[in-house]
Amino acid sequence: MKKDNLISVTEIQRFCMHDGPGVRTTVFLKGCPLRCAWCHNPETQSTAQQILYYPQKCIGCGACVAVCPRGAHRLTEDAHLFDRALCQGCRACVAACCSGALEPSRKEMTVEEILTVVEKDRAFYGALGGITLSGGEPMAQPENALALLRECRRRGIGTAMETCGYFDASYLEALVPLVDLFLWDFKDGNPARHREYTGVDPARIRQNLCRVDALGGVSVLRCIMVKGVNMQEDHYEAIASLWHSLQHCKHVELLPYHAYGGSKMIPLGMEDNGRREWIPSEEDMETAKNILIKKGIRLK
Ligand code: SF4
Ligand code: SF4
Ligand code: SF4
Repeated sequence: MKKDNLISVTEIQRFCMHDGPGVRTTVFLKGCPLRCAWCHNPETQSTAQQILYYPQKCIGCGACVAVCPRGAHRLTEDAHLFDRALCQGCRACVAACCSGALEPSRKEMTVEEILTVVEKDRAFYGALGGITLSGGEPMAQPENALALLRECRRRGIGTAMETCGYFDASYLEALVPLVDLFLWDFKDGNPARHREYTGVDPARIRQNLCRVDALGGVSVLRCIMVKGVNMQEDHYEAIASLWHSLQHCKHVELLPYHAYGGSKMIPLGMEDNGRREWIPSEEDMETAKNILIKKGIRLK
């Protein structure tokens, strides 16, 4: 990789406890080929620079109106209007806004800049922790993800990758030796529902997972449970069939859908798409857990 290659990052979260074993630093890369109806990180989907607008923080000073070369911001007597279709992502309005009402969804960072943040947490990693690449889909920026992982290997930093699995299989041979643990989203074993709710066919995802396993990659299957969508026998059966076919899968995790991601649509100028009826109850989760245990799956 050239020294000045830039990686498109939405956020770096420090001291994470749920993105792999031990204490982790999670780096969210921008861009995802899926459009899951339950996405919790909608700002990571598009590769484009998007300006997040938080109306509750706006003090109506008009600085953004004055600097925007495209006339995307307008102030009326009682509202701040932001026409995102006009925005070209120059960030002039973000720099001019003193109240924090505007934020860029994307930062361009070098490997060195990312690892400068990561290294601050290193003293807390112990034997288990390290960096987790997340997103979006980290492999939507394949060369950048590989460059970051290679440098982590060189520095002896533990690595995990949270992935939807939908990426170019030609990178797998290079990728697998660089990742200690794949946190693999397995969204729905029913192909038609998978296409309906994520926008893509699952065949490629399953092929990539099986190839990672065949290459010796260690994985955890993370299954979001969406009531009324995938909490169904055919999905449970698909999880079981996958689990029994994998040699290096440590366990399966069930993650209950929550509606929080929906409110993250608002700063992007979209409607809150959180669906309360999709939230499983504790009893629903218990039922799913018991079904999967009966099918011989190791759950965590
Ligand atoms: S990022 Fe640039 S083009 Fe977009 S709204 Fe702000 S100032 Fe205007
Ligand atoms: S610069 Fe910030 S605070 Fe001022 S009007 Fe624009 S968004 Fe609101
Ligand atoms: S794979 Fe993840 S980041 Fe991509 S759309 Fe689905 S939930 Fe969102």
